[in-house]
Amino acid sequence: MTRYWWSERIGPGFTHGYEIEPLFEQRTPFQRLLIFDNPQWGKGLVLDGIVQTTVGDEFVYHEMMTHVPILGRKEPTESVLIIGGGDGGVLREVLKYESVKRVVQVELDEAVIVACRKYIPEICGDWKDPRVELIIGDGAKYVREARERREKFDVIILDSTDPIGPAIVLFQRPFHEDLAACLTDTGVVVRQSGLPVTMPDVMPFIRKRFQDVFENVEVYLAPMPTYGGEIAFVAGSRNKEESINVPQRDYEGRYYNPSIHRASFCLPGWWKKLIEEYVDNGTIPIETPSYW
Ligand code: SAM
Repeated sequence: MTRYWWSERIGPGFTHGYEIEPLFEQRTPFQRLLIFDNPQWGKGLVLDGIVQTTVGDEFVYHEMMTHVPILGRKEPTESVLIIGGGDGGVLREVLKYESVKRVVQVELDEAVIVACRKYIPEICGDWKDPRVELIIGDGAKYVREARERREKFDVIILDSTDPIGPAIVLFQRPFHEDLAACLTDTGVVVRQSGLPVTMPDVMPFIRKRFQDVFENVEVYLAPMPTYGGEIAFVAGSRNKEESINVPQRDYEGRYYNPSIHRASFCLPGWWKKLIEEYVDNGTIPIETPSYW
């Protein structure tokens, strides 16, 4: 296939340009999927025109989304629920823990898993691991039904797309109430919450949603160059004592280490102001991004 220049709109009047070799393209029942190769970032997955992951920086995101909640908990983590995460990067990191006995992953779009397994296997965890139950379906529906069954998880990781299309349901209040009910007493939920620099209302919005249902809410960050800057993660737990900002065990990843863990909870002044303004006024005094 021939190379061409492709770009992702990151913010108003701001794009990331990639010289890509398209490896695979598909219109799935839920989204437009593209797998590309790029000289700087290697292979990457794009959904509906938005870069989801690239081999060049995925480890930062997947390690921070997995090791911060698991190592921040005082108790060993035995059960994990992953919602979304079709590229398999979070699964790969979760399966590194011997304490983890059960992982349920609920991904809406099987085509994402099939394509990532075929074209970017180096990112994927092992869906054949006997601890893993893969469910192809809507994460909101799964959590609602799990609540009815009184099923609980120690860690829930929301690795979903941004609040557009099929992911919108994952931003609504009933979903958050179900989530809280599916956590063990010492459990933690973590979700990717966008880039404050280009989507300033997403992180404060999620933080507020979490505050409505969780006793303890924390925000941390990680640098993600292909996303356009620092991504925010919001974590929630049912109990004030369950802060995850201090690592309870040592682990050295490619990006993650105990000092990075601690440092990731130090937020820039303007992020703190963004949160205060959102919580105080209920709105963000910044132009709403066009997709929201
Ligand atoms: N790292 C990511 C990012 O940048 O947004 C997310 C990666 S992962 C590929 C996101 C996955 O969430 C997609 O595969 C998408 O199909 C899935 N997803 C979206 N809405 C969902 C829902 N309601 N239930 C379960 N999975 C969902």
